[in-house]
Order: sequence, then C-alpha cells, then structure tokens
Amino acid sequence: MRVGVLGGGQLGRMLALAGYELGLEFRFFDPSSGAPVGQIGELVAAGYEDRDALARFLDGTDVVTYEFESIPLDAVRFVAERVRVFPPLAALETAQDRLIEKQLFRDLRIPVPEFAAVDNLTQLREGVRQMGFPVVLKTRRLGYDGKGQIVIRDAAAVDGAWTKLGGAPLILEKYVGFQREVSVIGARHANGRTVFYPPIENVHSEGILRTSRVPGPGIGKEQADSAIEFCGRVMNQLDHVGVLALELFSVDGMLLANEMAPRVHNSGHWTIEGADTSQFENHLRAILGLPLGSTALRGQSGMINIIGHLPSREQVLSVEGAHLHLYGKAPTERRKVGHVTVVAESAAAIDRSMTALDRVLAAG
Ligand code: AMP
Repeated sequence: MRVGVLGGGQLGRMLALAGYELGLEFRFFDPSSGAPVGQIGELVAAGYEDRDALARFLDGTDVVTYEFESIPLDAVRFVAERVRVFPPLAALETAQDRLIEKQLFRDLRIPVPEFAAVDNLTQLREGVRQMGFPVVLKTRRLGYDGKGQIVIRDAAAVDGAWTKLGGAPLILEKYVGFQREVSVIGARHANGRTVFYPPIENVHSEGILRTSRVPGPGIGKEQADSAIEFCGRVMNQLDHVGVLALELFSVDGMLLANEMAPRVHNSGHWTIEGADTSQFENHLRAILGLPLGSTALRGQSGMINIIGHLPSREQVLSVEGAHLHLYGKAPTERRKVGHVTVVAESAAAIDRSMTALDRVLAAG
C-alpha cells in the first residue's frame, strides 16, 4: 500500500515515520528537491503545475493526502481525478480562504471574532469604523505563521496597512484580547466515526506556535467539551476524512474559532509520545479506512518548537522526560527545525522540564 503525500515538510516526514510502522510505503511531491522528506522517502521534486511529474508521483499510489494547505487547487483536482484524495477537496478549499472558513464557522453557529471581507480601502475604513480598534487585517489566502497579517491599532495606521496588503483579497477581524489560545484535533473515518484528543493550550509569538500543553492548564471541562463539539461539527459538515485541527481563542470564558487546518497540526506533535495513538497514525488510519486508534493520554505533555537554530542534542536530552525531534532542515530565522515533547505524570514536572528546555533552546 503506497500513500502519496503532497508537500514535503516535517508534517509529511512525521506521517511517513508513523506509517512505516504500519508497513506502508510513501512517495512525496514537493517543489523543492531539498525537502526534508527526501532523507527518508521517495521524493518527486517538481512544480505543482507540472502534470507529467504529478502523473509520475501518482503511478502506483493508492491514496493521496497533503501536509500543508497552500497547494494550488488545480493540482489537487488533477490528482483527485485519478486517485482518491483525503481529506476531501471541500475541506482544503475552505481552509485556503480565511473568509470562507469564517463563514462556514458562522453558518455552523460556532462563535467567531467579528469579521468582514475587504477588497478596497473604503471597505477597510468602514470595517474599522464598525469594529473599533484594534483590528487585524489578513490576506484571505496563503498566510501562515503570522505572515500576511497586520494588527491596526489606530486610525493613523489604516492606510499603511492597506498599502502593505491591499491588492490581494483581504479579511478584517476584530482583534481579540484572548486569555489563551486553544486547539482541538480530531480524526474522522469515512464511516463517520470520530475521535478527539483533549483540547490543547497553545502559546504563539510573532504568529508562530511556540508551546503546547495537554491537558491545557486553563481549559475547563465545559470549554473542552465545546471545543470538541465544534470540531466535530466542522468535520461532519465537510464529510471530512482524516485529521482536522480547529484553532480557537478563549476570551472571558467564551471560545471563538480562528481557523482550521485539514491536516495533521503542529499543536498535535505531542501525541507521538503523549497519546496512545499519534495524530499521524490516526490520520493514516482514517484515510486508509482502518479503525481509528485510542486518543487517551499517557500522562501530561508539553511541546516546545525549535525555531531558527539547532540546539545541542545532549543538552535537550538531559532534560527529564524530553523527546527530541529534528526535521533535517537547515536552520534559518523563524524556521521550525524541530520540536521537543516532554511527558510526565504531573503538571509541576512538565513546568520544570519546559523551563529547563526554554533555557537550553535560548542558549542555542
Ligand atoms: P492565524 O494565522 O490566523 O492563525 O494567526 C496567527 C496568530 O495571530 C494567532 O494564533 C493569534 O495569536 C494571532 N491572531 C490572529 N487573529 C487574531 C485576532 N483576530 N485577534 C487576536 N489575535 C489574533
């Protein structure tokens, strides 16, 4: 059984590492011949518009999935006409456009921050007038890790934000003064069965995920239940097959949906050691029609991303409970090159190890 993966980053790499244990084979497609998956699997390196290369990628492939959501839809449609693609195109199309995504949440009665489509400066000024400062202006498409978005704090900054981002279709959102960020990861089988990991508490800075904690110290049972229920609503609506992550803001006891990713997610990396079945394995199980695995916790987990430089292996591994994952990527500024997960019995033990890891990673 061979799985084709569109995209060749660390998510594809971790999918394959989980899949090899199930006896699966992998082939990847990525525009870069230096993609990290090349070290562990067969890589077809070509542009997404190269139909011959896509056909070569598909030859002998039983099912195709993707590991990031900015893949040109035309390429995915070409693939889907030839081989089964999961998650479904509808999920990918929705996730590629922040406006459609927010409209879906709203249609499903999942609370969202106030938002408006912005295609010209007049609409931007009108949106700002209605929402009041601060607001966030974002490109509807192709933004990730905080790229393509600007927080506007006062009237003097409105025109400047338009100059930077205008030209592309935009969405304006009320800036949410959240207490915490939460994500929930679920997996859905084609037969409609779903499983969910306990909601995760995340810390971002400069738009990039820094740390994740499970169970989230600030997430109560009621909030956890609603986050899971929202994620299930989205998956059922899209007839989703595979893993889906939903990111939310927690503000004054309320949850507001920010975005979704129809794929394995950075905030779920801890599941490799911290859950009975990892998100990577459950994604593969779902897209292959295999029974989904237990999402039960194996204690408490903390995950910290390694960004911009490679730390000393020895120092990371000297931290109690630490599991190091390096992705085989050359470090550059703001680039995620690995992560560390700590698993322990108590929140206090996780706190200790995360503090020690912070020091190790800051030292480089
Ligand atoms: P996004 O690319 O939409 O996930 O945004 C990246 C990060 O920017 C989020 O995880 C938040 O930390 C922050 N952010 C995005 N949208 C908002 C918002 N409406 N209000 C406050 N912070 C936001």
